[in-house]
Amino acid sequence: MTTSPLFYQAGPAMPEVSHGQGVFLWDTQGKEYLDGCSGAISCNLGHGREDIRDAMLAQLDRVAFTYRTQFENAPAVALAEALVEMTEGELEKVFFVSSGSEAVESAIKLARQYVVARGESRRRHFVSLRPSYHGSTLGALGLTGYQPLEAPFASITPGSIKVLGPDFYRQRDDDRDAHIRRVLDETRAAIEAAGGDTIIAIVVEPVGGASTGARLVDKAYLEGLRALCDEFGCLLIFDEVLSGVGRTGTWFAYQQWGVAPDLLTTAKGLGAGYYPVGALLCRSEIVETVMANGGFQHGHTYAGNPLACATGLAAVEAIRREGLLDNVRARGAQLQQGLESLQSRYSWIGDVRGLGLLWGVELVMDPVERTPFPAASNLFAEMTALAKEEGLLIYPRRPLNGLAGDHFLVGPPFTISESEAELLLERLSRALDRLD
Ligand code: PLP
Repeated sequence: MTTSPLFYQAGPAMPEVSHGQGVFLWDTQGKEYLDGCSGAISCNLGHGREDIRDAMLAQLDRVAFTYRTQFENAPAVALAEALVEMTEGELEKVFFVSSGSEAVESAIKLARQYVVARGESRRRHFVSLRPSYHGSTLGALGLTGYQPLEAPFASITPGSIKVLGPDFYRQRDDDRDAHIRRVLDETRAAIEAAGGDTIIAIVVEPVGGASTGARLVDKAYLEGLRALCDEFGCLLIFDEVLSGVGRTGTWFAYQQWGVAPDLLTTAKGLGAGYYPVGALLCRSEIVETVMANGGFQHGHTYAGNPLACATGLAAVEAIRREGLLDNVRARGAQLQQGLESLQSRYSWIGDVRGLGLLWGVELVMDPVERTPFPAASNLFAEMTALAKEEGLLIYPRRPLNGLAGDHFLVGPPFTISESEAELLLERLSRALDRLD
Protein backbone atom coordinates (compact mmCIF):
# COMPACT_ATOMS: atom_id res chain seq x y z
CA MET A 1 0.00 0.00 0.00
CA THR A 2 1.22 3.52 -0.74
CA THR A 3 0.71 6.92 0.89
CA SER A 4 1.45 9.68 -1.57
CA PRO A 5 0.60 13.32 -2.31
CA LEU A 6 -1.91 12.13 -4.93
CA PHE A 7 -5.57 12.63 -4.15
CA TYR A 8 -8.58 11.32 -6.03
CA GLN A 9 -11.71 10.12 -4.28
CA ALA A 10 -12.10 8.95 -0.72
CA GLY A 11 -11.88 5.18 -0.65
CA PRO A 12 -9.91 2.25 0.69
CA ALA A 13 -6.13 2.25 0.37
CA MET A 14 -5.09 0.80 -2.96
CA PRO A 15 -2.44 -1.74 -3.87
CA GLU A 16 0.41 -0.46 -6.03
CA VAL A 17 0.45 -1.84 -9.55
CA SER A 18 3.55 -3.62 -10.76
CA HIS A 19 2.82 -4.73 -14.33
CA GLY A 20 0.22 -6.18 -16.68
CA GLN A 21 0.04 -8.80 -19.39
CA GLY A 22 -3.00 -9.77 -21.42
CA VAL A 23 -6.11 -9.64 -19.24
CA PHE A 24 -4.07 -9.76 -16.00
CA LEU A 25 -2.48 -7.16 -13.72
CA TRP A 26 -0.12 -7.79 -10.77
CA ASP A 27 0.52 -5.61 -7.76
CA THR A 28 3.90 -5.13 -6.13
CA GLN A 29 3.05 -7.83 -3.55
CA GLY A 30 2.70 -10.34 -6.40
CA LYS A 31 -1.10 -10.62 -6.23
CA GLU A 32 -2.79 -11.30 -9.60
CA TYR A 33 -5.97 -9.53 -10.77
CA LEU A 34 -8.09 -10.43 -13.78
CA ASP A 35 -8.97 -7.09 -15.36
CA GLY A 36 -12.69 -7.73 -15.71
CA CYS A 37 -13.49 -4.11 -16.56
CA SER A 38 -10.55 -3.12 -18.80
CA GLY A 39 -9.54 -0.49 -16.23
CA ALA A 40 -12.37 1.95 -16.79
CA ILE A 41 -13.75 0.10 -19.85
CA SER A 42 -10.79 1.48 -21.74
CA CYS A 43 -7.94 -1.09 -22.02
CA ASN A 44 -9.76 -2.85 -24.83
CA LEU A 45 -6.78 -4.88 -26.01
CA GLY A 46 -5.45 -5.90 -22.63
CA HIS A 47 -2.06 -5.06 -21.20
CA GLY A 48 1.52 -5.34 -22.41
CA ARG A 49 0.86 -5.52 -26.16
CA GLU A 50 4.04 -5.43 -28.18
CA ASP A 51 2.36 -4.32 -31.41
CA ILE A 52 1.00 -1.17 -29.74
CA ARG A 53 4.32 -0.54 -28.01
CA ASP A 54 6.16 -0.93 -31.33
CA ALA A 55 3.78 1.44 -33.13
CA MET A 56 4.22 4.01 -30.34
CA LEU A 57 8.00 3.68 -30.35
CA ALA A 58 8.13 4.00 -34.14
CA GLN A 59 6.09 7.20 -33.88
CA LEU A 60 8.24 8.51 -31.02
CA ASP A 61 11.31 7.93 -33.18
CA ARG A 62 9.75 10.13 -35.88
CA VAL A 63 7.98 12.83 -33.88
CA ALA A 64 5.81 12.71 -30.75
CA PHE A 65 4.03 16.05 -30.86
CA THR A 66 3.10 18.56 -33.50
CA TYR A 67 0.38 21.15 -33.14
CA ARG A 68 -2.71 20.70 -35.23
CA THR A 69 -2.66 24.20 -36.75
CA GLN A 70 1.00 23.88 -37.80
CA PHE A 71 1.18 20.44 -39.44
CA GLU A 72 -1.09 17.77 -40.79
CA ASN A 73 0.12 14.38 -39.61
CA ALA A 74 -0.35 11.04 -41.34
CA PRO A 75 -1.54 9.01 -38.30
CA ALA A 76 -4.27 11.60 -37.59
CA VAL A 77 -5.53 11.48 -41.17
CA ALA A 78 -5.40 7.66 -41.21
CA LEU A 79 -7.21 7.34 -37.86
CA ALA A 80 -9.86 9.84 -38.95
CA GLU A 81 -10.38 7.84 -42.15
CA ALA A 82 -10.65 4.64 -40.13
CA LEU A 83 -13.31 6.20 -37.87
CA VAL A 84 -15.35 7.43 -40.83
CA GLU A 85 -15.14 3.94 -42.33
CA MET A 86 -16.36 2.44 -39.04
CA THR A 87 -19.53 4.51 -39.39
CA GLU A 88 -19.81 3.26 -43.00
CA GLY A 89 -19.55 6.89 -44.09
CA GLU A 90 -22.62 8.01 -42.13
CA LEU A 91 -20.46 10.51 -40.26
CA GLU A 92 -17.78 12.03 -42.44
CA LYS A 93 -15.85 14.49 -40.31
CA VAL A 94 -13.62 13.96 -37.27
CA PHE A 95 -12.31 16.29 -34.58
CA PHE A 96 -9.75 14.78 -32.20
CA VAL A 97 -9.56 15.34 -28.44
CA SER A 98 -7.87 13.58 -25.52
CA SER A 99 -10.80 12.40 -23.39
CA GLY A 100 -14.48 11.60 -23.33
CA SER A 101 -15.36 14.81 -21.49
CA GLU A 102 -13.49 16.84 -24.10
CA ALA A 103 -15.36 15.00 -26.86
CA VAL A 104 -18.68 15.89 -25.24
CA GLU A 105 -17.63 19.54 -24.68
CA SER A 106 -16.67 19.67 -28.35
CA ALA A 107 -20.06 18.27 -29.37
CA ILE A 108 -21.86 20.86 -27.22
CA LYS A 109 -19.88 23.72 -28.74
CA LEU A 110 -20.00 22.53 -32.35
CA ALA A 111 -23.75 21.97 -32.12
CA ARG A 112 -24.28 25.44 -30.66
CA GLN A 113 -22.09 27.08 -33.31
CA TYR A 114 -24.00 25.19 -36.00
CA VAL A 115 -27.41 26.46 -34.95
CA VAL A 116 -26.05 30.01 -34.57
CA ALA A 117 -24.51 29.77 -38.05
CA ARG A 118 -27.95 28.78 -39.36
CA GLY A 119 -29.42 31.94 -37.84
CA GLU A 120 -31.10 30.08 -34.97
CA SER A 121 -29.28 31.54 -31.99
CA ARG A 122 -32.48 31.23 -29.92
CA ARG A 123 -31.61 27.51 -29.70
CA ARG A 124 -29.78 27.25 -26.39
CA HIS A 125 -31.01 24.08 -24.60
CA PHE A 126 -29.83 20.49 -24.69
CA VAL A 127 -32.09 17.60 -23.73
CA SER A 128 -30.41 14.67 -21.96
CA LEU A 129 -31.43 11.68 -19.88
CA ARG A 130 -31.70 10.94 -16.20
CA PRO A 131 -29.78 8.82 -15.34
CA SER A 132 -26.83 9.42 -17.66
CA TYR A 133 -23.13 10.21 -17.54
CA HIS A 134 -21.43 12.47 -20.05
CA GLY A 135 -18.26 13.55 -18.29
CA SER A 136 -16.78 15.66 -15.56
CA THR A 137 -16.06 19.04 -17.17
CA LEU A 138 -18.76 21.63 -16.59
CA GLY A 139 -20.49 21.43 -19.98
CA ALA A 140 -20.48 17.63 -20.02
CA LEU A 141 -21.49 17.55 -16.35
CA GLY A 142 -24.39 19.86 -17.20
CA LEU A 143 -25.73 17.14 -19.53
CA THR A 144 -25.12 14.45 -16.93
CA GLY A 145 -28.09 13.08 -15.01
CA TYR A 146 -26.33 11.56 -11.99
CA GLN A 147 -27.31 13.35 -8.84
CA PRO A 148 -24.24 12.78 -6.61
CA LEU A 149 -21.98 14.26 -9.28
CA GLU A 150 -24.33 17.06 -10.32
CA ALA A 151 -25.27 18.37 -6.89
CA PRO A 152 -22.21 20.45 -5.90
CA PHE A 153 -22.09 22.17 -9.29
CA ALA A 154 -25.75 22.47 -10.23
CA SER A 155 -25.76 26.26 -10.01
CA ILE A 156 -22.66 26.75 -12.14
CA THR A 157 -23.07 24.28 -15.02
CA PRO A 158 -24.92 25.21 -18.20
CA GLY A 159 -27.27 22.32 -17.34
CA SER A 160 -29.80 20.68 -19.63
CA ILE A 161 -33.44 19.66 -19.77
CA LYS A 162 -33.47 16.23 -18.10
CA VAL A 163 -35.95 13.57 -19.15
CA LEU A 164 -36.25 9.96 -18.05
CA GLY A 165 -34.72 7.38 -20.39
CA PRO A 166 -36.15 3.90 -20.96
CA ASP A 167 -35.81 1.44 -18.09
CA PHE A 168 -36.88 -1.94 -19.45
CA TYR A 169 -35.91 -3.77 -16.26
CA ARG A 170 -38.57 -1.98 -14.28
CA GLN A 171 -41.23 -2.57 -16.95
CA ARG A 172 -43.01 -5.88 -17.49
CA ASP A 173 -42.36 -7.30 -20.97
CA ASP A 174 -45.92 -6.75 -22.13
CA ASP A 175 -45.57 -3.09 -21.17
CA ARG A 176 -42.46 -2.43 -23.23
CA ASP A 177 -44.05 -0.66 -26.21
CA ALA A 178 -46.25 1.42 -23.95
CA HIS A 179 -43.18 2.33 -21.88
CA ILE A 180 -41.32 3.58 -24.98
CA ARG A 181 -44.34 5.64 -26.02
CA ARG A 182 -44.62 7.10 -22.52
CA VAL A 183 -40.93 8.02 -22.33
CA LEU A 184 -41.07 9.61 -25.78
CA ASP A 185 -44.27 11.50 -24.92
CA GLU A 186 -42.60 12.88 -21.79
CA THR A 187 -39.60 13.93 -23.87
CA ARG A 188 -41.87 15.67 -26.36
CA ALA A 189 -43.72 17.43 -23.53
CA ALA A 190 -40.41 18.66 -22.04
CA ILE A 191 -39.29 19.96 -25.44
CA GLU A 192 -42.62 21.71 -26.03
CA ALA A 193 -42.55 23.26 -22.56
CA ALA A 194 -39.14 24.80 -23.28
CA GLY A 195 -40.17 25.71 -26.84
CA GLY A 196 -39.21 23.35 -29.68
CA ASP A 197 -37.29 26.12 -31.43
CA THR A 198 -34.99 26.60 -28.41
CA ILE A 199 -33.53 23.09 -28.50
CA ILE A 200 -30.03 22.53 -29.92
CA ALA A 201 -29.86 18.75 -29.54
CA ILE A 202 -30.96 15.61 -27.74
CA VAL A 203 -27.99 13.74 -26.24
CA VAL A 204 -28.12 10.02 -25.33
CA GLU A 205 -25.88 7.07 -24.59
CA PRO A 206 -27.25 4.20 -26.75
CA VAL A 207 -25.92 1.85 -24.08
CA GLY A 208 -25.62 3.44 -20.67
CA GLY A 209 -22.26 2.81 -19.11
CA ALA A 210 -21.11 4.21 -15.82
CA SER A 211 -24.47 5.81 -15.05
CA THR A 212 -26.96 3.03 -15.58
CA GLY A 213 -24.92 -0.16 -15.60
CA ALA A 214 -25.27 -1.01 -19.31
CA ARG A 215 -28.96 -0.18 -19.52
CA LEU A 216 -30.05 -0.55 -23.15
CA VAL A 217 -32.28 1.50 -25.39
CA ASP A 218 -34.07 -0.06 -28.35
CA LYS A 219 -34.80 0.63 -32.00
CA ALA A 220 -38.25 2.11 -31.44
CA TYR A 221 -36.88 4.52 -28.83
CA LEU A 222 -34.02 5.71 -31.02
CA GLU A 223 -36.36 6.05 -34.00
CA GLY A 224 -38.68 8.06 -31.79
CA LEU A 225 -35.85 10.39 -30.75
CA ARG A 226 -34.76 10.76 -34.38
CA ALA A 227 -38.34 11.69 -35.34
CA LEU A 228 -38.52 14.28 -32.52
CA CYS A 229 -35.22 15.82 -33.65
CA ASP A 230 -36.43 16.00 -37.25
CA GLU A 231 -39.77 17.48 -36.20
CA PHE A 232 -38.25 20.17 -33.96
CA GLY A 233 -35.22 20.83 -36.21
CA CYS A 234 -32.65 19.89 -33.58
CA LEU A 235 -29.65 17.56 -33.67
CA LEU A 236 -29.26 14.01 -32.34
CA ILE A 237 -26.02 13.33 -30.47
CA PHE A 238 -24.95 9.84 -29.41
CA ASP A 239 -22.39 9.63 -26.62
CA GLU A 240 -20.40 6.48 -27.35
CA VAL A 241 -17.38 7.43 -25.25
CA LEU A 242 -17.71 4.11 -23.46
CA SER A 243 -19.69 1.95 -25.90
CA GLY A 244 -17.79 2.89 -29.08
CA VAL A 245 -14.89 1.29 -30.97
CA GLY A 246 -16.14 -2.28 -30.79
CA ARG A 247 -17.10 -2.68 -27.13
CA THR A 248 -20.63 -3.90 -27.91
CA GLY A 249 -19.65 -6.17 -30.81
CA THR A 250 -20.13 -3.63 -33.60
CA TRP A 251 -17.87 -0.63 -34.16
CA PHE A 252 -20.52 1.60 -32.62
CA ALA A 253 -23.48 0.46 -30.55
CA TYR A 254 -26.00 2.55 -32.50
CA GLN A 255 -25.35 0.37 -35.56
CA GLN A 256 -27.24 -2.46 -33.84
CA TRP A 257 -30.43 -0.39 -34.04
CA GLY A 258 -29.80 1.26 -37.40
CA VAL A 259 -30.55 4.82 -36.27
CA ALA A 260 -27.72 7.23 -37.08
CA PRO A 261 -26.92 10.40 -35.09
CA ASP A 262 -25.79 13.79 -36.40
CA LEU A 263 -22.84 13.88 -34.01
CA LEU A 264 -21.12 11.09 -32.08
CA THR A 265 -18.52 11.17 -29.31
CA THR A 266 -16.06 8.39 -28.57
CA ALA A 267 -12.88 8.04 -26.46
CA LYS A 268 -11.93 5.49 -23.75
CA GLY A 269 -11.14 2.40 -25.89
CA LEU A 270 -9.91 4.38 -28.89
CA GLY A 271 -6.39 4.55 -27.46
CA ALA A 272 -6.95 1.16 -25.77
CA GLY A 273 -5.48 2.55 -22.55
CA TYR A 274 -2.06 3.09 -24.14
CA TYR A 275 -2.48 6.84 -24.78
CA PRO A 276 -5.40 9.26 -24.36
CA VAL A 277 -7.27 9.88 -27.58
CA GLY A 278 -10.92 10.64 -28.24
CA ALA A 279 -12.95 11.97 -31.12
CA LEU A 280 -16.06 13.86 -32.14
CA LEU A 281 -17.55 12.59 -35.39
CA CYS A 282 -20.25 14.43 -37.32
CA ARG A 283 -22.03 14.95 -40.59
CA SER A 284 -20.01 17.06 -43.01
CA GLU A 285 -22.80 19.61 -43.56
CA ILE A 286 -22.48 20.62 -39.89
CA VAL A 287 -18.77 21.26 -40.28
CA GLU A 288 -19.19 23.07 -43.62
CA THR A 289 -21.81 25.39 -42.12
CA VAL A 290 -19.61 26.21 -39.10
CA MET A 291 -16.49 26.64 -41.25
CA ALA A 292 -18.33 28.99 -43.59
CA ASN A 293 -19.24 31.15 -40.59
CA GLY A 294 -15.89 31.84 -38.96
CA GLY A 295 -14.75 28.31 -38.08
CA PHE A 296 -14.99 26.17 -34.95
CA GLN A 297 -13.99 28.28 -31.93
CA HIS A 298 -12.65 25.39 -29.89
CA GLY A 299 -9.68 23.08 -29.46
CA HIS A 300 -7.28 21.45 -27.01
CA THR A 301 -3.48 21.52 -27.13
CA TYR A 302 -2.90 17.77 -27.35
CA ALA A 303 -5.73 17.13 -29.82
CA GLY A 304 -4.82 14.86 -32.71
CA ASN A 305 -1.11 14.76 -31.93
CA PRO A 306 0.89 12.17 -33.89
CA LEU A 307 1.62 9.88 -30.93
CA ALA A 308 -2.02 9.79 -29.82
CA CYS A 309 -3.25 9.03 -33.32
CA ALA A 310 -0.53 6.46 -34.08
CA THR A 311 -1.59 4.67 -30.89
CA GLY A 312 -5.28 4.80 -31.78
CA LEU A 313 -4.54 3.61 -35.29
CA ALA A 314 -2.48 0.67 -34.02
CA ALA A 315 -5.34 -0.28 -31.67
CA VAL A 316 -7.97 -0.13 -34.43
CA GLU A 317 -5.72 -2.11 -36.79
CA ALA A 318 -5.21 -4.78 -34.11
CA ILE A 319 -8.99 -5.16 -33.68
CA ARG A 320 -9.35 -5.57 -37.45
CA ARG A 321 -6.33 -7.85 -37.98
CA GLU A 322 -7.26 -10.21 -35.16
CA GLY A 323 -10.99 -10.24 -35.92
CA LEU A 324 -11.61 -9.15 -32.33
CA LEU A 325 -15.19 -8.03 -32.91
CA ASP A 326 -16.01 -11.72 -33.42
CA ASN A 327 -14.39 -12.53 -30.09
CA VAL A 328 -16.31 -9.67 -28.42
CA ARG A 329 -19.56 -11.29 -29.58
CA ALA A 330 -18.54 -14.87 -28.73
CA ARG A 331 -17.14 -14.09 -25.27
CA GLY A 332 -20.07 -11.73 -24.72
CA ALA A 333 -22.49 -14.62 -25.25
CA GLN A 334 -20.44 -16.74 -22.84
CA LEU A 335 -20.46 -14.01 -20.18
CA GLN A 336 -24.18 -13.44 -20.63
CA GLN A 337 -24.85 -17.13 -20.04
CA GLY A 338 -22.55 -17.23 -17.02
CA LEU A 339 -23.97 -14.06 -15.47
CA GLU A 340 -27.53 -15.26 -15.99
CA SER A 341 -26.67 -18.51 -14.30
CA LEU A 342 -25.30 -16.52 -11.33
CA GLN A 343 -28.56 -14.55 -11.35
CA SER A 344 -30.51 -17.78 -10.92
CA ARG A 345 -28.36 -18.60 -7.85
CA TYR A 346 -28.48 -15.24 -6.07
CA SER A 347 -31.93 -13.73 -5.64
CA TRP A 348 -30.54 -10.22 -5.16
CA ILE A 349 -29.06 -10.16 -8.67
CA GLY A 350 -32.06 -8.37 -10.12
CA ASP A 351 -30.93 -7.77 -13.66
CA VAL A 352 -28.21 -8.81 -16.08
CA ARG A 353 -28.12 -6.70 -19.24
CA GLY A 354 -25.69 -5.65 -21.92
CA LEU A 355 -24.23 -6.24 -25.33
CA GLY A 356 -20.92 -7.65 -26.56
CA LEU A 357 -18.37 -7.27 -23.78
CA LEU A 358 -20.29 -4.68 -21.80
CA TRP A 359 -22.43 -6.24 -19.08
CA GLY A 360 -24.24 -4.59 -16.20
CA VAL A 361 -25.35 -6.45 -13.09
CA GLU A 362 -27.91 -4.70 -10.89
CA LEU A 363 -28.32 -5.73 -7.25
CA VAL A 364 -31.74 -5.27 -5.67
CA MET A 365 -33.20 -5.81 -2.22
CA ASP A 366 -36.51 -7.13 -3.49
CA PRO A 367 -36.33 -9.10 -6.74
CA VAL A 368 -40.12 -9.03 -7.20
CA GLU A 369 -40.62 -5.31 -6.69
CA ARG A 370 -37.11 -4.65 -8.06
CA THR A 371 -36.43 -2.23 -5.21
CA PRO A 372 -32.85 -1.03 -4.78
CA PHE A 373 -31.00 -1.44 -1.46
CA PRO A 374 -30.81 1.75 0.62
CA ALA A 375 -27.95 3.96 -0.58
CA ALA A 376 -26.25 3.78 2.83
CA SER A 377 -25.72 0.01 2.51
CA ASN A 378 -22.81 0.70 0.11
CA LEU A 379 -23.24 -2.70 -1.46
CA PHE A 380 -21.58 -1.63 -4.69
CA ALA A 381 -18.38 -0.78 -2.80
CA GLU A 382 -18.48 -3.98 -0.75
CA MET A 383 -18.99 -6.08 -3.86
CA THR A 384 -16.07 -4.40 -5.65
CA ALA A 385 -13.79 -4.89 -2.65
CA LEU A 386 -14.72 -8.59 -2.35
CA ALA A 387 -14.13 -9.14 -6.06
CA LYS A 388 -10.75 -7.46 -5.78
CA GLU A 389 -9.82 -9.72 -2.87
CA GLU A 390 -10.76 -12.67 -5.10
CA GLY A 391 -8.47 -11.30 -7.84
CA LEU A 392 -11.10 -9.71 -10.08
CA LEU A 393 -11.55 -6.07 -11.07
CA ILE A 394 -15.13 -4.88 -11.76
CA TYR A 395 -16.47 -1.35 -12.30
CA PRO A 396 -18.83 -0.30 -9.49
CA ARG A 397 -21.66 2.25 -9.32
CA ARG A 398 -23.75 3.44 -6.42
CA PRO A 399 -27.60 3.33 -6.44
CA LEU A 400 -29.37 6.28 -8.05
CA ASN A 401 -32.21 7.62 -5.93
CA GLY A 402 -34.65 4.90 -6.86
CA LEU A 403 -33.74 5.15 -10.57
CA ALA A 404 -31.30 2.23 -10.38
CA GLY A 405 -29.91 -0.08 -7.72
CA ASP A 406 -26.28 -0.76 -6.85
CA HIS A 407 -24.67 -2.11 -9.95
CA PHE A 408 -21.37 -3.05 -11.46
CA LEU A 409 -20.02 -3.39 -14.97
CA VAL A 410 -18.18 -6.38 -16.34
CA GLY A 411 -16.26 -5.45 -19.48
CA PRO A 412 -13.00 -7.35 -19.98
CA PRO A 413 -10.56 -6.71 -22.85
CA PHE A 414 -11.63 -7.89 -26.33
CA THR A 415 -8.77 -10.40 -26.27
CA ILE A 416 -10.15 -12.45 -23.38
CA SER A 417 -10.08 -16.21 -24.07
CA GLU A 418 -12.81 -18.72 -23.27
CA SER A 419 -10.91 -20.10 -20.26
CA GLU A 420 -10.14 -16.60 -18.97
CA ALA A 421 -13.84 -15.70 -19.24
CA GLU A 422 -14.60 -18.85 -17.19
CA LEU A 423 -12.04 -17.74 -14.61
CA LEU A 424 -13.68 -14.30 -14.48
CA LEU A 425 -17.05 -15.92 -13.73
CA GLU A 426 -15.50 -18.22 -11.11
CA ARG A 427 -13.88 -15.32 -9.25
CA LEU A 428 -17.11 -13.31 -9.47
CA SER A 429 -19.05 -16.24 -8.08
CA ARG A 430 -16.61 -16.54 -5.14
CA ALA A 431 -17.09 -12.82 -4.38
CA LEU A 432 -20.89 -13.20 -4.59
CA ASP A 433 -20.71 -16.18 -2.20
CA ARG A 434 -19.01 -13.97 0.35
CA LEU A 435 -21.58 -11.17 -0.12
CA ASP A 436 -24.42 -13.59 0.53
N1 PLP B 1 -19.35 9.94 -21.74
C1 PLP B 1 -19.56 8.69 -21.32
C2 PLP B 1 -20.72 7.92 -21.87
C3 PLP B 1 -18.70 8.09 -20.38
O1 PLP B 1 -18.93 6.84 -19.96
C4 PLP B 1 -17.61 8.84 -19.90
C5 PLP B 1 -16.69 8.27 -18.88
O2 PLP B 1 -17.01 7.32 -18.20
C6 PLP B 1 -17.42 10.15 -20.36
C7 PLP B 1 -18.31 10.67 -21.29
C8 PLP B 1 -16.27 10.98 -19.88
O3 PLP B 1 -15.06 10.45 -20.37
P1 PLP B 1 -13.67 10.83 -19.69
O4 PLP B 1 -13.67 10.21 -18.34
O5 PLP B 1 -12.66 10.23 -20.63
O6 PLP B 1 -13.58 12.30 -19.65
